Amino acid sequence: MSDYEAVIGLETHIQLNTTTKIFCSCKADSWFDPPNTNICPVCTGLPGVLPVLNQAVVEKAVLLATAMHAEVRPVSYFDRKNYFYPDLPKGYQISQYDQPLGSGGYLDLPVPATSSPDGRPYVRRVTIHKLHIEEDAGKTKNDGRQRFIDFNRCGVPLIEMVTGPDLRSADEAAQYLTRLRQLLRWLGISEADMEKAHLRCDANVSIRPRGADYLNPKTEIKNVNSIEAVREAIQHEIQRQIRAVEAGQRIEAWTLEWDEDNSELRKMRSKETEADYRYFREPDLLPVYVDEQWKWEILKDMPELPLERRQRFLQEYELPEYDAEILTSERNLSDYFEATVRAYAGDPKRVSNWLMNDVLRMLNDRGLTADQLKLTPPFLAEVLRLVDANTINTSTGKSLLGKVEDSGRSPAAIVEQEGLAKVSDDSAIRNVVQAVLDANPKEVESYRAGKVTLIGWFVGQVMKQMRGKADPGMARQILEELLG
Ligand SMILES: [Zn+2]
Repeated sequence: MSDYEAVIGLETHIQLNTTTKIFCSCKADSWFDPPNTNICPVCTGLPGVLPVLNQAVVEKAVLLATAMHAEVRPVSYFDRKNYFYPDLPKGYQISQYDQPLGSGGYLDLPVPATSSPDGRPYVRRVTIHKLHIEEDAGKTKNDGRQRFIDFNRCGVPLIEMVTGPDLRSADEAAQYLTRLRQLLRWLGISEADMEKAHLRCDANVSIRPRGADYLNPKTEIKNVNSIEAVREAIQHEIQRQIRAVEAGQRIEAWTLEWDEDNSELRKMRSKETEADYRYFREPDLLPVYVDEQWKWEILKDMPELPLERRQRFLQEYELPEYDAEILTSERNLSDYFEATVRAYAGDPKRVSNWLMNDVLRMLNDRGLTADQLKLTPPFLAEVLRLVDANTINTSTGKSLLGKVEDSGRSPAAIVEQEGLAKVSDDSAIRNVVQAVLDANPKEVESYRAGKVTLIGWFVGQVMKQMRGKADPGMARQILEELLG
């Protein structure tokens, strides 16, 4: 184990999935649109226009703040953050400065054994310093000779959330982002796709001797656009700082940029971080009032949160950690699981096995989510009961899943119509066994000469003849009887 520990804080920008932008009625999501097609006088800062706050932005921010255990301020304010940059046509960004919507809060991060330095799972509490609403700036692109500007992203609603310096490894940082992404999708407030910049992350990284409680100068890593890249970039930076300190160098407060193609960090030239933004209250917007009544309206449909649900799955259904994790990875998958458990009224672990092996594969293959399946929870429960009752065998049950999904018809109806029920009629199996023995005199001879392991091969032949519908136990019994 290294003599140093990392001290990491993350600054995330979350793009909310509202229909329109934060202060005008332009379309918010421009991912598939040509540059400068979703713009208007408000979001491009023409003189004489006034911003109007999109109520849905506040509602989504209240949901997130509450899910992060943050306090929602009854009155918060918008401020102007002044700076000059070509992608900011107004010359300022509307943001929240000293009285943001959310304050305090935390996320209890369950760190699995596989990411733990001593191989034991633990919980890391990640505190939230600040949660505020702001508008996005535009996008600039440089082709080496010219710079292009796209204002589509101007005025897209963002939530900025800054953690305390609580994370202790690159792995923990990646875990945090994974949990945050899960939560945002669970709440239905953001696509949270880092590759599409719906979730952006800057990381502040420093190191100190293990066990120390002071903070050293930190560097800031920008421009990382996947969770894996965040992990890799932070890991690189921790190693670089350790090497530097051990060589007697001082760590300077650089801003670094992650170059994904070459897996290396580069120093950024700009000293933007030191700018004086001359914040002042936004005079064109009223304060944001979130009274108890409105808060209640927003929160009344608040779902059980993913980590709570995961915990409940462990306890209530006695599922292994692995199952509980996968089944709560998405909200509609965990809803599907619970609905099936209720409809089946049998062992929850059995439902989990079928779900994780067969239903998940089907979702993947067909590009569906659990709530879109025609193989509904009652139908899946019915398949399980048909197998339990020995009406069909397991492999017929598995092939039945696809047939139900294709047709939308009930499993029992398909079994009936296609004659899939298992044959446990003694005389029917006996006839097939006799035919198999007659057709394979050499094998019968070897068996009788002592090669009893051939029994498995005989059972296989009978099953094949009966297209998998024979009861294998009975087939074996009859074979042994006639061969003996
Ligand atoms: Zn606009």
